[in-house]
Order: sequence, then structure tokens, then C-alpha cells
Amino acid sequence: MEQSNNSLKPRKKLPWLQIARYTSLTFFTLSLPFFNIAYIPVISVALLLLFVLGGSFHCGWMCPMGFFQDLTTLIARKFKIKQKALLPRKWHLILSPLRYLIFIGMSMGVVWVSTAIFMGDARHAITGFIGGKIPIIIGIVSFTAFIVLSIFYKRVFCSYFCYLGSIFGIQGASRIFTIKRDERTCISCKKCDQVCPMNIAVATSHNVQSLQCVNCFQCISTCPTGTTLSYGLITPEHDPLGAKMKAQSPAQKSLVYFVRIILVASIFMYHFNAKSKKQESKQPQVEVVVESS
Ligand code: SF4
Ligand code: SF4
Repeated sequence: MEQSNNSLKPRKKLPWLQIARYTSLTFFTLSLPFFNIAYIPVISVALLLLFVLGGSFHCGWMCPMGFFQDLTTLIARKFKIKQKALLPRKWHLILSPLRYLIFIGMSMGVVWVSTAIFMGDARHAITGFIGGKIPIIIGIVSFTAFIVLSIFYKRVFCSYFCYLGSIFGIQGASRIFTIKRDERTCISCKKCDQVCPMNIAVATSHNVQSLQCVNCFQCISTCPTGTTLSYGLITPEHDPLGAKMKAQSPAQKSLVYFVRIILVASIFMYHFNAKSKKQESKQPQVEVVVESS
């Protein structure tokens, strides 16, 4: 039951949480030039485990595109530009399923979808630039457009276009650690809803189960009561005996398992390709000497 509570505890200040998050985003963005592709299998397995248990930390804590969007948001806030988490309703409804459709198109091997995404992926401009290569024009245009948009709207790229975000989000569908809201102390101010960059209705959730959640914890940092929102193991109070899994339709469960199989298969494919390339490079080079008579 939601009730107004006048005997609130002083607001739990959590600036360190956001400082830690921005530090992490900065670290991962600046370490891009030193990233070795050989780390991918190990990192993928570690992240997969983390996401399955606790939701997508990649988007909120590690992604360079998230870093640049959040940085723009911070700067815009300094200049007192009012921001929204949501595009105009009509656009929101049209674009909401897009990142999942992009992902499905890519995983089904629809070539033009993959090509279009890779060509226009704003992240390629970042990795190209930071990695010392000249990014392709279409990537620069796409990156610039999303950064300009994030002056006014939070995390537009993540919400509607990021196919990686959709994969990570789906992984977190069965998370057992999440954002929990204590109804007894909630004053229904809806500040958590306003600050959420992914437009999640935190103020009416018992625990956040949205696939969109990027674990940025801005809702927790902003809640004025201090203790109403927390991150932790879903308790029976919040999720009576597996009600969450029971509530998932067979289609939802199948989608989750489908994505997991694809991820695991791609890790094996990567290993297989890397191994064959290694063996190829170990083959002795045969020199052809042409003797002149
Ligand atoms: S910020 Fe959200 S969770 Fe915290 S008191 Fe307001 S409505 Fe409740
Ligand atoms: S629900 Fe909270 S942690 Fe999740 S995206 Fe919204 S503000 Fe961030």
C-alpha cells in the first residue's frame, strides 16, 4: 500500500554511486585503444553471467556510447537545458520495438540489416576515432545526430536503436538482483520515473523487471526518501516465490532462451574462427624460387 510518510529518514546521499559509474564509463571508453579482441570470449562469458544474475551493467557502466550520451546530458544540465527521457509519444510508440527488430533481423542473418547497422552504427565512429582510424562519414553523422539528440532526450540511441542493448536487456530478463521499491516508505513523488533515462515506471514497480533497465542507479541516487529504492536480491516480499518466472509467457521464456543460445553459439563460433586463423598463420610459408636457365 502506498502512503505518504512524513517521518522520512534523511535522504541517503549517494553521489559516490554516480561518481563510480562515470569513472567506470570513462575508464572503459579510454581503454578502447588497448582492447585486445582475444579477450572477447572471456569477457563475454563473465558479462553473460553478470547480466543473467543482475541485469545489464554494460550499458550503464561500460559502454562508450552511453558515456558520450551521459556526458552530453551532464553538460546540458549545467546549461539548464530541460531534458526528457521520452521522445514525443508517437515517436516513442513507433521506435520502442525497433532495437529488438534490428537484433532479430541481424540474428536471422538478414544481410542488408546487418550491413546497414554496421555502416551507420554510431559506435563505430567512436571506436574508429579512439582507435586511431578515420571513422566512416555515415558513422560520424549518426554519432553526431545521437549526441545532439541527447542534449534534449536521454539515451535515445540506447532506448531505440542499440541491438547490443537489446541482447543484454533480454539476458537480464531472469535477473535475481534488481532495483527494489519499498512501498511502505514511498511518497509517490515520481522523481525516479523522471530521472530514469530508459523511461521505466519505477514508481509503480515492486521490483524493476524491464528489459530496458541499464542499471545506472540514477533512480536510487535521486529518491528523496533515501531507503525506498535499493538494489539487491529479489525478496519474497517483492517477488513471491518465483512469481516473476511464472508470470512470463511461454513466448517470453522462449525468447530469453533463444537469445542465450545465440550468444553461447557466437562465443563458440568466435573460438572456432580464432583457432582456425591461428593454425593458418602457423602453416610454414612455401617460397617459390624460379630458377633462371
Ligand atoms: S523517487 Fe520513486 S521510489 Fe522514491 S519516493 Fe519518489 S516515487 Fe517513491
Ligand atoms: S530503473 Fe533505475 S537503474 Fe534502471 S535504467 Fe531506470 S534509473 Fe537506471
